[in-house]
Amino acid sequence: MILIYSDNKNNSLELLGKGRKLADQVKNRVLAVIIGNAGEPEAKELIAFGADTVVIAETDMEHFKAEEYADILQSIINEYNCETVMIGSNKNGKELAPRLAARMETGCVTDCINVSLEGEKLTVERIVFSGAAISRQQFASDIQILTIPPKAFYPPPKDEARTGEVIKKSYQPNSYASKVLRVQEMKSGDVNVEDAEIIVSCGRGLKKKEDIRLLEELAETLRGNTIGCSRPIAADLKWLSEDHWIGLSGHKVKPKLYIACGISGQIQHIAGMRDSAIIVAINRDSEAPIFKSADYGIVGDLYTVVPALTKAIKEEMSS
Ligand SMILES: Cc1cc2nc3c(=O)[nH]c(=O)nc-3n(C[C@H](O)[C@H](O)[C@H](O)COP(=O)(O)OP(=O)(O)OC[C@H]3O[C@@H](n4cnc5c(N)ncnc54)[C@H](O)[C@@H]3O)c2cc1C
Repeated sequence: MILIYSDNKNNSLELLGKGRKLADQVKNRVLAVIIGNAGEPEAKELIAFGADTVVIAETDMEHFKAEEYADILQSIINEYNCETVMIGSNKNGKELAPRLAARMETGCVTDCINVSLEGEKLTVERIVFSGAAISRQQFASDIQILTIPPKAFYPPPKDEARTGEVIKKSYQPNSYASKVLRVQEMKSGDVNVEDAEIIVSCGRGLKKKEDIRLLEELAETLRGNTIGCSRPIAADLKWLSEDHWIGLSGHKVKPKLYIACGISGQIQHIAGMRDSAIIVAINRDSEAPIFKSADYGIVGDLYTVVPALTKAIKEEMSS
């Protein structure tokens, strides 16, 4: 049985997409877990996206806590003989997966960007050395726990006709010394680069903060209003908030179109945007590494190229 769990709905669907494919290859089954007081409609939706069984683990816990959630998942893994456990790699999942693996004395590989079967052996790929290499790994343990970052896989198509079993069960995890005293939601910023379909991104090729307006005009013309940036623009110059920061230590994005303006293309930046469907790079240095990752490259001064591109797109769109 392949178990999938994420407390983020989109991430759950992405895990289901991959979990279903793996299960079909070896005639296995997929079990999705919801922890909390969900109803039948939520469970049925997971079935429509590929789960065979959905376990709704009811608890009286108000908030996520890794120790207790690990207890619950461990019970479900044992109860249903799950040999592969795929957990969404968000903040909670990153805390949960290794704790669960340590408790079960089993292998755990985090942030897998690809998962496949070699024969019947699960093989995962993860980015290492800041994106300079991809490591392929296999498990030596019987139970294999892996975490998958958001957007690594596409959700499968929804099939309302699929049927499956919904099991509601109450779980009483052990009690632990640590307690959640208060949960304060992080103030979300003005932009969500992770879900954007078009991103125009700026780097240190910009001379001053006000010039971001040039990129905003290009983004607006393309009917996308999302501005991204390299680390120095957010972290050092503070011209944009960290919500815009893309890369290894920033946000990972996967838009349909990514336009990098005055960004050199160091591996730490590429690690965050390499999965974009189409990458356009504008840089005045023809040797800039960004061109190696780009589908289209324009060698030129962004102060000339960006307004010319905006003008040309406006003309094309109005004709
Ligand atoms: C542990 C670690 C984590 C990191 N994480 C990240 C991360 O998440 N995201 C990230 O972005 N970086 C990250 N970095 C930093 C990264 O290594 C680079 O320093 C950074 O990406 C460079 O930003 P840049 O391309 O904007 O600037 P630069 O490297 O200075 O490049 C500027 C580019 O603009 C071009 N240019 C200049 N003027 C013009 C013009 N008028 N027209 C057109 N082109 C022009 C230049 O030719 C140059 O290629 C990290 C570094 C470390 C060590």
